[in-house]
Amino acid sequence: MESRPEYDAVVVGGGPAGSTAAYLLGESGHRVALLEKRTYPRDKVCGGCLSQKSVRFLDRVFHLPVPALRREGLLDSAGTGYALYIGSSRILAGDLAEPVYFTRRERYDAHLARMAVEAGAEVHAGVEVVAVDHARHTVMTSDGDRYAARVLIGADGIHSRVRRSLPESVVRPERWRENLGWALELAVPREEAEALANGDGPIHLDDGFATPHLVFAACRWGYGWVFPNENAVVVGIGGLLQVNRNGLRDRFEEFLKTIGFSAFVDRRPAGFMVPLGNYIPSPAHEGTVLIGDAGGFAGPILGEGIFYAHRTAELAAHAVDRHLTTAAPLAETYTALLRRRLIPELRAERVLRDFVYGCLDARMHVPLAAFMRATNTRVIDAVQGSRSFRGFRRDDDLHSAVW
Ligand SMILES: Cc1cc2nc3c(=O)[nH]c(=O)nc-3n(C[C@H](O)[C@H](O)[C@H](O)COP(=O)(O)OP(=O)(O)OC[C@H]3O[C@@H](n4cnc5c(N)ncnc54)[C@H](O)[C@@H]3O)c2cc1C
Repeated sequence: MESRPEYDAVVVGGGPAGSTAAYLLGESGHRVALLEKRTYPRDKVCGGCLSQKSVRFLDRVFHLPVPALRREGLLDSAGTGYALYIGSSRILAGDLAEPVYFTRRERYDAHLARMAVEAGAEVHAGVEVVAVDHARHTVMTSDGDRYAARVLIGADGIHSRVRRSLPESVVRPERWRENLGWALELAVPREEAEALANGDGPIHLDDGFATPHLVFAACRWGYGWVFPNENAVVVGIGGLLQVNRNGLRDRFEEFLKTIGFSAFVDRRPAGFMVPLGNYIPSPAHEGTVLIGDAGGFAGPILGEGIFYAHRTAELAAHAVDRHLTTAAPLAETYTALLRRRLIPELRAERVLRDFVYGCLDARMHVPLAAFMRATNTRVIDAVQGSRSFRGFRRDDDLHSAVW
């Protein structure tokens, strides 16, 4: 067993959340170790969709504007239009004021981990944390090494070991389970999709598979998606686990048939959990904070998690820096930042989630379609981050720096 020197912060998990926290704390001159159980480049089941919220974050915090993202090979493709369905009925379609982009997570995550190293953080890949001692601020790895720090940051994703070792009073497991989502996804090689010559289902995907499609009612309390990648068409469905426990695989097959991809029903999709409104309002205990999926932070309607991984990491890094430099109480500072900068937005999106999916569950498709047409661009603006889900007002709060 090796006992390492004490760090200011140990970050467990090297996805977008962990790398952002390590990068920001490294830049501030803190001694940081990031422990990632896999080795880079590693993939993550994900549609890879970067809304403008993420694009603005990457520019503001990592100094990676779109041309730099392109240069670094981090943008696989762009969607300049959209199509939105309820079942097989097209409700809305058009151009987006600003594109959404698609990234490949194996490249994206490896690049951000590299930037954390350049900022001064130590990144230890292939190191799995197997035990956490919150009171002593230490973690043990599968190799028997012990890492001690003044602060622990749990960025280890939806199955977070750091979260599972926290008291139930922090995690509130009932609320967590109630809003936990489950998704299935399949990447169909583009040449195979193109060979189908417009498929055989009621939804005709646009020529060239260049347009992101969202299909509500593809499963209960969730939706289906078709996302363009340069070499693949990424198809998935995801919804709340508790109402889709039995039959999500069947719904996935039905979805493939609906979009004319019945040729691929025998392919095995990848499955993964996703937060859909199960964020933990005070994800902090003793010297530990949770960020990203580990704390359940993702948009409750679509499960967009990359931006929320980045943003919670930024808020947490700020709280950790204050704690390390001025002895400000860690849990209180992080919770207050979340309460001011993020949770009102997630709460408002969850209210809309309950309305939209509640209408779909009650088969109130016609009034819902009318609502979607009436609010169309405002909801898109809220997803893109130029408006708030709170009354759809113009809002820059999600994008403003915290230090
Ligand atoms: C099917 C699907 C599609 C999605 N599509 C989108 C999308 O299009 N756009 C979007 O914004 N979001 C999407 N999401 C959500 C998004 O993938 C997540 O919200 C995002 O990856 C969260 O980042 P993270 O850093 O918190 O966690 P992760 O990316 O999961 O990273 C956690 C890291 O921790 C490591 N780790 C875990 N346990 C340990 C341990 N014990 N010790 C050390 N390391 C550990 C893991 O190996 C991993 O690298 C999707 C999710 C799913 C399931």
